[in-house]
Amino acid sequence: PAAIFKIPRAPPDKILGLTERFNQDCHPRKCNLTVGIYKDNWGQVTTFPSVARAQNILDENVELNTDLSYLPITGCPEFQANVLSFLFRESCPQGSLYLDQNRVSFVQTLSGTGALAVTSKLLSLFVSKTVWVPDPSWANHTNVFQNNGFKDIKYYTYFKNGQLDVSQWLDDLKSSYSDNLYNPQCIVLHACCHNPTGVDPRREQWIEILDTIHDLKLIPIIDMAYQGLESGNIYEDAYLLRMSLDSSRYQWPNGLFLCQSFAKNMGLYGERVGSLSVVTPPDPELKLNVDSQLKKVVRGLYSSPPGYGSRVANLVLSTPQLKKQWFADVEHMAARLRHVKSEMYDRLGWQSLRDSSLQHGMFYYTGLTPSQVDLLRESFSIYLTQDGRLSLSGVNDSNVDYICEALQKVTT
Ligand code: PMP
Repeated sequence: PAAIFKIPRAPPDKILGLTERFNQDCHPRKCNLTVGIYKDNWGQVTTFPSVARAQNILDENVELNTDLSYLPITGCPEFQANVLSFLFRESCPQGSLYLDQNRVSFVQTLSGTGALAVTSKLLSLFVSKTVWVPDPSWANHTNVFQNNGFKDIKYYTYFKNGQLDVSQWLDDLKSSYSDNLYNPQCIVLHACCHNPTGVDPRREQWIEILDTIHDLKLIPIIDMAYQGLESGNIYEDAYLLRMSLDSSRYQWPNGLFLCQSFAKNMGLYGERVGSLSVVTPPDPELKLNVDSQLKKVVRGLYSSPPGYGSRVANLVLSTPQLKKQWFADVEHMAARLRHVKSEMYDRLGWQSLRDSSLQHGMFYYTGLTPSQVDLLRESFSIYLTQDGRLSLSGVNDSNVDYICEALQKVTT
């Protein structure tokens, strides 16, 4: 047969495949608690008030919104300036140094996934084909790195026997350490609201982790998809970036990659708005080389990013009233997620639901076994991802009793 017949069937996407099954389910009380899309108490995916206001401004100002021509390869220049100062001055004052020294290469990306894809493509072409990913992690990490030239995906222990295991994590990194500055390995770090567990290292643990990563000369890839959803305060949640960019402690001789997304914290999911920032060592020539290769990578992948979402985000970031509203919107979202957990705690009495400092963000990691997850789906039409991750915002006043009763039944 012709070569095209060598294409084998790929397994369905671990998360989006479940939504396809959910859509075909006819159960009247079915609940989709799989995907990380924020819904309000009425089960609606709402537009944030700040974002809706920015959309109105765009609608009213024809000249802002009628230009449908291409953006530059690396995105809209105003978006770049505003996002850089949002990330590297406001969220992380330590970052100003790098901006002032012109050491940050920037690309407007197709949301967080696009940032990870461009990162992995660039690194695999020139720097490294080995990456450490937490076990467990967002399933798409492995997929993105594999698809973009990484040959070796290693997994470090993250969550084991129901808890974060930092010492095993660091032992894993150290035990397979063989390389040096000329043949470095990369490591993916979830900036906050680790997906799927919701459990993040405490600040003092991060210091130990970053010290080790720095000693081992690993290249940090900070995946910041949930800034603001941990504490409700957008700036506060950039703590890993602030710690990593403490120049008195860390140098990052092979650079540091920040993959950032506005999908969750602006509710811009489908508009694909995010960014990649590469903090480079102090060498103007190298910065220009990185800039030029990022452009080449993007040009070959999708040529240039979409415009509309970045215009919206740019307005929110650059208009003081909208920015204030945005902070309130994120605070409101985080508060509702905490409220859902306390409602569930009242019904189930599970400790991990009680203390908001234990698990952060959009998800609740139930600890259900795969067969309990199957039972929940088959007997109650309640859909969780197979690892037992439950998307909290799918829970609301009208289904919380049903969901908690079902959880009770499948766990006893
Ligand atoms: N990283 C992690 C850990 C995520 O959970 C997500 C969203 N599910 C992303 C990156 C990227 O999402 P997006 O491409 O929609 O910004």
